[in-house]
Amino acid sequence: MAVSAKVRGFMEEGGWIRRMFETGIALKAQYGEDKVFDLSLGNPVVEPPEEFRRELRRLAENPIPGMHRYMPNNGYPETRQAVADGLKGETGLDFSAGDIIMTCGAAAALNVVLKTILDPGQEVIILSPYFVEYGYYIDNHGGQPVIVPNGPDFQLDLERLEAAFTAKTRAIIINSPNNPSGVVYPTEALAALGDLIRRKETHHGSEIFIISDEPYRRVIYDGLTYPQVFPHHANTIVVNSHAKDLALPGERIGYMAVNPAYPGKAELANGLTFCNRSLGFVNAPALMQHVVRALQGVSVDAGEYQRKRDFLYGGLTGMGYSVTKPQGAFYLFPKSPGEDDAAFVDALQQHNVLTVPGRGFGTPGHFRISYCVEDRVLEGSMEGFAKVAKEFGL
Ligand code: PMP
Repeated sequence: MAVSAKVRGFMEEGGWIRRMFETGIALKAQYGEDKVFDLSLGNPVVEPPEEFRRELRRLAENPIPGMHRYMPNNGYPETRQAVADGLKGETGLDFSAGDIIMTCGAAAALNVVLKTILDPGQEVIILSPYFVEYGYYIDNHGGQPVIVPNGPDFQLDLERLEAAFTAKTRAIIINSPNNPSGVVYPTEALAALGDLIRRKETHHGSEIFIISDEPYRRVIYDGLTYPQVFPHHANTIVVNSHAKDLALPGERIGYMAVNPAYPGKAELANGLTFCNRSLGFVNAPALMQHVVRALQGVSVDAGEYQRKRDFLYGGLTGMGYSVTKPQGAFYLFPKSPGEDDAAFVDALQQHNVLTVPGRGFGTPGHFRISYCVEDRVLEGSMEGFAKVAKEFGL
């Protein structure tokens, strides 16, 4: 066997999204592109903003000498300064370039953070439903995931969290707006989490980080202002990506930001820079760093996604589905009628509608719809949703 037993197990349990995506390709070949409604993958349908193309053209026409060479492992100082200035504007906190490390997207950033802070056997709390990769990333760096289910409407359950922190807890990963639920954690919940962590740190004599995974921070609806995590805990590291806010997932560009209020920030930033290199990322892509430097104030039109959310939420609740209304990201996580989410997802697939069962996110009894797709796909999926709702007695 070429692949280890552990990785084979991970591949079996964690392959839902990819499996559905591949099923979609096979179904499209069989029935035709327009007969299959693939809501399985979070691959943004909108194109990057016009400013992106402008910067790309400008750089191609006026190349900077040496622009494709190696650079400091934490990225170009000018790009890090631009990110720091943007964060200063968003949070009111005093960020400097030293607090920022450019990365190959949020996935790399999460791995770099975990590599930097974890000793073997330390625990990292993740909240279900969760982005399935978290468990694998924690395992990559010798950590132990501790899963804490969220409460009603997928909000933080402080009582359960209270019981989950131990002397071995090193970090908690939070993700707001959330994949797969779309919920945003309000300021009061973040403040309560910060208080809880500080009590636990005092009790155990330990240091516990909040790792805030924020690739959807700018995909937010209903005029909401993003509730920032930084003000609520000094040892906070924000992980971000331009995969969603600039619609550049294939370009692998993002960053880590260390809270300027964290007393150990210089040591932490050095550790993060070292691990960015030693994990083999070396540095974030040079061209993209040049491009996004000028785009820190730019993002895709979240109104486009809000319109899709409204269509889908209205349609599904009208059919009797039970859905928490998302305030951001581009996912919906309804209850599956019947306990067996995989059976429900199979039934939808019979009507060429592809979704992902909740068990793929540690939360059976639900299913995830990704609505970053063209309107015709959403419209076309409605008939399948309605038929299966009837089959399952909604
Ligand atoms: N975190 C979450 C919650 C995500 O949904 C994703 C991507 N779908 C990532 C991290 C990884 O983002 P990136 O493509 O920037 O690595």
